[in-house]
Amino acid sequence: MTCYDLHTHSTASDGSLRPEEVIARAIEHGVDVLALTDHDGTEGISQAELAANDTSLSVIPGVEISVTWGSNTVHIIGLNVDKNNTKLQQGLVEIRDYRKERAVKIAERLEKSGIKGAYEGASQYASPVMLGRVHFAKFLVEAGHAKSIGDVFKRYMVRNKPGYVSGEWASLEQAVTWINGAGGQAVIAHPARYKITATKLRRLVTEFKHLGGAGIEVVSGRQHPEEINNLAKLANDFELLASRGSDFHSPDNAWVELGRIPDLPTNVTPIWQSW
Ligand code: AMP
Ligand code: MN
Ligand code: MN
Ligand code: MN
Repeated sequence: MTCYDLHTHSTASDGSLRPEEVIARAIEHGVDVLALTDHDGTEGISQAELAANDTSLSVIPGVEISVTWGSNTVHIIGLNVDKNNTKLQQGLVEIRDYRKERAVKIAERLEKSGIKGAYEGASQYASPVMLGRVHFAKFLVEAGHAKSIGDVFKRYMVRNKPGYVSGEWASLEQAVTWINGAGGQAVIAHPARYKITATKLRRLVTEFKHLGGAGIEVVSGRQHPEEINNLAKLANDFELLASRGSDFHSPDNAWVELGRIPDLPTNVTPIWQSW
């Protein structure tokens, strides 16, 4: 059976492997079709495609767009996007400009709580326009302010903590429109991970479907196996296609590995059915 992993990260966003290293590792782990879906950018795709040339692995060009929906941040994956599409790239540039502004604010807030040099520290791990919370987390661990990335997220980088800045990302409509305009398919990433009620999640899915969204991730890394049936039902209730992706970021997270996630249940329509 073909192994699909349609949600992965590289150093082009907050992953720790270069695109070519993601490809090599995916092949080692038996992945046949891999979507590189870095946050808010497609810079890693050419390198991934080059590395996959003349191998058994196919690369699907993707992106994971940060979206502000009400007071929540949600992530929308674009699969099979044309990375040369102007409107998509203009949108992504705007989000990355905001990333830079947010990084400055995060550093200011950390400074107020006594942590100096966070902007420069985090910048060692990424370019200013890609700076994300993971890069700040790496700096905070390195500087001895926390013992692990997970520890940083709990103590600094989430709501009501010193290093948190609420996001002002793209709208749901913009994300879906950019992805569809670039010939891609929009997919709601890790729907079980948002801290929203089931009712609110159904509202998100309703709006997403109306806007032209194509699918939801039914199987995702860092997700309780019992979520799969709920998400399969959600996909079927809204006639959405089902996607499968690990959300791999780094070999350091031993519990999230490329391709190593459950199969899609048999009662859903896989998003790759029409490929
Ligand atoms: P950002 O888009 O910069 O706000 O960062 C979001 C990213 O932070 C996610 O894509 C994950 O890679 C990472 N992240 C979020 N929550 C956690 C957590 N609790 N532990 C480790 N990494 C996390
Ligand atoms: Mn990430
Ligand atoms: Mn995400
Ligand atoms: Mn992701």
